[in-house]
Amino acid sequence: MSKVGNLNCIYKNPNEPIEARIKDLLSRMTLKEKAGQMTQIERSVATPSAIKDFCIGSILSGGGSGPFENALPSDWANMVDGFQKSSLESRLGVPLIYGIDAVHGNNSVYGATIFPHNVGLGATRDADLAQRIGVATALEVRASGIHYTFAPCVAVSRDPRWGRCYESYSENTEIVRKMTSIVSGLQGQPPEGHPRGYPFVAGRNNIIACAKHFVGDGGTEKGVNEANTILSYDDLERIHIEPYLDCISQGVSTIMASYSSWSGRKVHGDRFLLTEVLKDKLGFKGFVISDWEGLDRLSQPHGSNYHYCISSAINAGIDMVMVPFRYESFIEYLTFLVESGEIPIARIDDAVERILRVKFAAGLFEFPFTDASLLDRVGCKAHRDLAREAVRKSLVLLKNGKDPNKPFLPLNKNAKRILVAGTHADDLGYQCGGWTATWHGSSGPITIGTTILDAIKEAVGVETEVIYERYPSIDTMKCKDISFAIVVVGEGPYAEFTGDNSELVIPFNGADIISSVTDRIPTLVILISGRPLILESWLLEKIDALVAAWLPGSEGAGITDVVFGDHDFKGSLPVTWFRRVEDLPTHAVDNSYDPLFPLGFGLRYTKENSID
Ligand code: BGC
Repeated sequence: MSKVGNLNCIYKNPNEPIEARIKDLLSRMTLKEKAGQMTQIERSVATPSAIKDFCIGSILSGGGSGPFENALPSDWANMVDGFQKSSLESRLGVPLIYGIDAVHGNNSVYGATIFPHNVGLGATRDADLAQRIGVATALEVRASGIHYTFAPCVAVSRDPRWGRCYESYSENTEIVRKMTSIVSGLQGQPPEGHPRGYPFVAGRNNIIACAKHFVGDGGTEKGVNEANTILSYDDLERIHIEPYLDCISQGVSTIMASYSSWSGRKVHGDRFLLTEVLKDKLGFKGFVISDWEGLDRLSQPHGSNYHYCISSAINAGIDMVMVPFRYESFIEYLTFLVESGEIPIARIDDAVERILRVKFAAGLFEFPFTDASLLDRVGCKAHRDLAREAVRKSLVLLKNGKDPNKPFLPLNKNAKRILVAGTHADDLGYQCGGWTATWHGSSGPITIGTTILDAIKEAVGVETEVIYERYPSIDTMKCKDISFAIVVVGEGPYAEFTGDNSELVIPFNGADIISSVTDRIPTLVILISGRPLILESWLLEKIDALVAAWLPGSEGAGITDVVFGDHDFKGSLPVTWFRRVEDLPTHAVDNSYDPLFPLGFGLRYTKENSID
C-alpha cells in the first residue's frame, strides 16, 4: 500500500475541525487498519513491523514493566519515540498512544516523584491538592515520552479485604467524587463551554487520563478482586457510577471497563452498562478501553471461545482492546467477525472515531514526540515538595496519649536518644507499596526518595542520637536514656488479587514488634498500609500514639513534618476502621455498629477530636 502524502489531507490539517479530520481519516482506512487502531499491545511484542503493518493504535507497559530495570526517563522517552517513529511510517501515519499505569506519580520510572496512593489522598479530602498532583504527574509522564495513564482509579472501595482498596480514594462516594479533580490536573482544565463528555487534553504538558474500572469494581462480594457486585441499578448508580459523572464533566478521554461483574454479568460484555449507560445516558464521547486480557475472561477457560469474547465485548461497547500479546489473531478474528456480519461495521467506525477523537484532541498528530525540555521535571524539587505536602495532609492521627489529657505527640526533636524500629522504618519500597517500579512493588531502595528513618535523622537536632533496628532486640531496650521510640510496621507491597486478604492482621509479626517495644519505651506507632488492619484492644492500649500513614510514597519527610510538630494533622479516615473481620463490610452493618474508628475520624493537635 502506498503512503498517503500531506497534499490536501483534511486529517493532517490542524486548522480543520477535529470531527472533520476524523471523518476524513476514517474514510481512508481499511478494515484491517481500523481493527489495528482498536488494538493495544504490550511493548515487548511491539516490533516496528507489527506497528506499521497492523496500524496499531496503542502500546502499553502493563503493570509498568519498563524498558529495563532502573531505566531513566530519557531511556523511556527514546523507547516511546522509537515506537512512534514506526507508527508515523505506517501508510496513513496515524500516531500511536503509549499508555502506562502512572497511578501515584510516574511510578514505573526510576527517579520519578512517588505520591501517596489514592487511599492517602482520600484522607486529605483536598481536591486542589489532587489536581496539583495531576499536573505534576502529567509533566513527569510526558517527560518520559508517555502520553497516557490508566488513572485515576475512581473505585468506591466498600471492603478493605479487596487488594485494590488502596487504589480507591474512599469507601464513600462523595469523597471519591471530590478527588476526581485529578483528571483536570492530568489532562488540563477544559475551558468554559467545552462540550460535556468530549475528550479534552490541554497541551503537550498534559496526558490522556483513564477513569477506571467502570463500574462496581470496589463493590464485589467480600472484596474479592474481579468478582461480583450485587446491587440494584439505582444503588450501582448512587454508589459507584456517580464519580464517573465528575470525570466526564472534566472531559476525561478514556474509561476502562472493570473485570468484575454486575449482578452476575461481566462488565466487559455488558451492552447496557457500556453503551446505554456510559455512552448514551452519561454522554461519554471518548473511548472505552478493556482491561488487560479483559475480553479473554468472557469465556472459560480464559479466551477459549475467542470469537465469542470479541463479538460480545465489541458489540457491548469496548472500543480499544488491551490485547496485549496475541494481536495478530485478535485483528484477524475481529475483521472476520465484521465481514461475517457478527459485528456491524458501524460499531467499528464508532470505536475508531472515538480513538481518533482522543488522538486529535491530545494533539498527537501535531506533536507526536517527546519534548526533551521536560526531562528535568522528573523527580524535581517542586514535585517532591508537593508529594511531601500530600504526605503531611494524608496522615491520620488515631491516638495521642494513653491519657487523653496528656498528649504524647508532638515528639521532641532534641531528645537525647531515640529508637527507630520496625520493618517499615527504612524501606522505600514498602513505603511506596504496589504499582511502584514493578506491578506488585517490592522491598528496598527501588527508586530515589527519603525513608522515614532518613527523614527522622534529618529532622532531629545534632545532639540527638538515633538508634535504628529493623527488628528491635532486647539489648537495645536495655539501652538507657531512650526518650521514646518510633515503631514503623505495616503491609508489604501487593497489587490486585495478590492483595486480597481476609485476615487483615499486621503482617511480619507487626503486633509482636510493637509490643516488644511498647512494653519498655513510650512509643509512637506509624502504620504503613493500604487499608485498615486489625488493632486488638490489648495492643492499642499499649501504644502511646498511633498514626495511619497509608502508602506515602517517596517523601518520608512529610511524616516527620507532622509528628515533630512543625505542622498539624489534617487527615481524616477515608475508610471505616473496623474492629473484626466478621464485621465486614462495615457499610452493611446495622446502625448500632461501633467501629474502632469511624469514617472521618482524625485527631488534631489544635482541637481534641475531629470527625469530618
Ligand atoms: C489492571 C488495570 C491496569 C492494567 C494495565 C490490569 O490488570 O486491572 O488497572 O490498568 O492491568 O496494567
